[in-house]
Order: sequence, then structure tokens, then C-alpha cells
Amino acid sequence: MGTPSPAQRVPLGGGWNYRHALFRDAYHRCLGSRRGLPYSADRGKKSVNRQALDDLKQQIPLIGYLQAHDWQPSRPLSRGRWMGLCPLHGDHKPSFLVDPNKDLFYCYGCGRGGDVIRFAEIYHQVRFSQAVALLRQWRGVEPVLHEAERFYRIQLHRHSEAVAYLYQRGVRSLALIEHMRIGYAPGGCLRGWLTQLGHSLPALRQVGLVTGVGYDAYVRRIVFPLEGNLYGRSLSSSAPPHRFLPGSKGGLYCWEQARLHPGVILVEGLFDYAILWQAGFHNVTCSLGTHLKRGVTARLVCLPDGHDPNSFFVGGGNAHEFHRLLEEASL
Ligand SMILES: [Zn+2]
Repeated sequence: MGTPSPAQRVPLGGGWNYRHALFRDAYHRCLGSRRGLPYSADRGKKSVNRQALDDLKQQIPLIGYLQAHDWQPSRPLSRGRWMGLCPLHGDHKPSFLVDPNKDLFYCYGCGRGGDVIRFAEIYHQVRFSQAVALLRQWRGVEPVLHEAERFYRIQLHRHSEAVAYLYQRGVRSLALIEHMRIGYAPGGCLRGWLTQLGHSLPALRQVGLVTGVGYDAYVRRIVFPLEGNLYGRSLSSSAPPHRFLPGSKGGLYCWEQARLHPGVILVEGLFDYAILWQAGFHNVTCSLGTHLKRGVTARLVCLPDGHDPNSFFVGGGNAHEFHRLLEEASL
């Protein structure tokens, strides 16, 4: 046994208990207003079919779009609403209110508000029709990622080297593989599969699944689907270990589930997440390169011998011991 080293940051405790949130009763009257469109078509013309716009908005929930653009909620409010820093102006204290049920936002700082199209207009600084085009393009990425994920999940069970790697990293439970939707990219066959399904080569290049010269981007990688992205961990020591597709990494991993717990364990990597989830800690999330926002009570858990959570469990640690380390950290 060595001296404990600060291996992982783990916030615990009542950081998310916002019963007395300052903004609890803040609710702008414009939110939820059904009076007309919150934006107008170019030069007042009804150039875009209203039904198509409603469909587009339904397919792109505002909060998902915000989070894919690195927005993070910092305070829950009543009725499922959230407060966070405004991505539309230099905000220092959260003044951006989001109502996921109504798919609307309002900023108390810059006074702007509306739906996902209005947000895209302001955020990307484009006109209404360009914002609609951007959102349509963005919506197009999701189906192809879903197909790729499905393909990789089938491959996992056909390649013993992938299963052996997972075993070596402590991933043993089928429930965990299902929960994280883990797959395997052998390389050299995804492109053919997706083009057969009707996805064009330029589209696959744009998403980043296929390289500029037409090869599969992920070769011999364990694949974890994220929000709007896929993370690939290389089996080969000669390749870069971590790869993401271009674009957002999708924020905190499985945050919607983790946030239901009074205290949340934050880890650095998806294999740390996996091992803790498997050991029964379902109040866990993974930072995926995003930073914690202020307003969260964080405590550091020190693991012995320079371990990270994954190597701690793979090296023989158990849930009971890990729980004790969590308790010590909350003292
Ligand atoms: Zn603002």
C-alpha cells in the first residue's frame, strides 16, 4: 500500500439540492406563450411550410441541441425547467432559462428568447432560413450515427479480441454492455454497410465515420455511443488511444440518469464509468472533456497506489472498499 494519490475528482453531497434555489419562482411570461411564432419568416413571407418547421422542432429538442453545443444546466427549477449560463452573451451568473417541456428558452440578461430555430439564428448569427438549413443538416447526423452504432454492436460479439480487451478492462456484465451500448469497430467494413443502406459517401465523410480517402475512420476500436458522437478506444498500442468524431462530445455522460441522485460521482474516462456502474454505483457520470460549472459541491476521492477507478477494481478492489473511500472523502 502506498500513500493515497489524488487520482480522480469525485463530487459528493448536496450540491444538487436546490430546494432553496434563488430562481425558483423566476418564470418569464413570454415562456410558453402561444401567441404566434416566436420568430418570423424572411421579410414576412410564409416561405417555409409550417408543418415541416413543427416537425423539425419536434425532432430536435431544444435542450439536446443546447447541450450538444456545450451548454450545461447549472440549477434545476420547478416544473422540470433549468437555469444556466447564457450562451448568447458574456454571462457570469446563470440567467438563461430553459423549459424542456415547452422547448423554449429565455435569457434574463440579454432579453432574448424563443425556440430551437430562434436559438440557432442567434447562436450561429444567421438568418431564419439558414438556421432552418443548419438544423436540418444537424438532424441528418443522428440517423447515420445510429446505424453505425447498431453495426458496431453486432461486430462486438463476432470479434474475440474485442471481448478479450473488455474482459481485461474489467467489463464482464452483459447488462453493462447493453446499458452503455458498447460496440466494436473492426475497420474496413462500415463504409460498405452504410452505403448499402443508402448513406452517401460525402455524408459519411462529413460525419467523420469515413476518412477523406474513403477508409473507415475507426479501426480496431471499442466504440461507445455518446450524444451526437462516437468514442473509439484503440486496441492497438500503435494508434492514438482515444478518438472522437468531429463535433461536440455530448457533455456529461448519462447525466440525465446520474442527476436523479442526491450525490454524483464524476470520473474521467468511460472505462472508469463502466467499472463503477457494474459495481452498482449508478450515480456516476463522466466528464468527456467538459468542465464542471460553479455551484456544485465537489469532494476529491483519493484512491490508493495511484489507481484510477478502473484500475482500482481491475486490481481487486470491491464496491465495499470503494464505498468506504467515498465516505472518507465526505468527512
Ligand atoms: Zn443572454
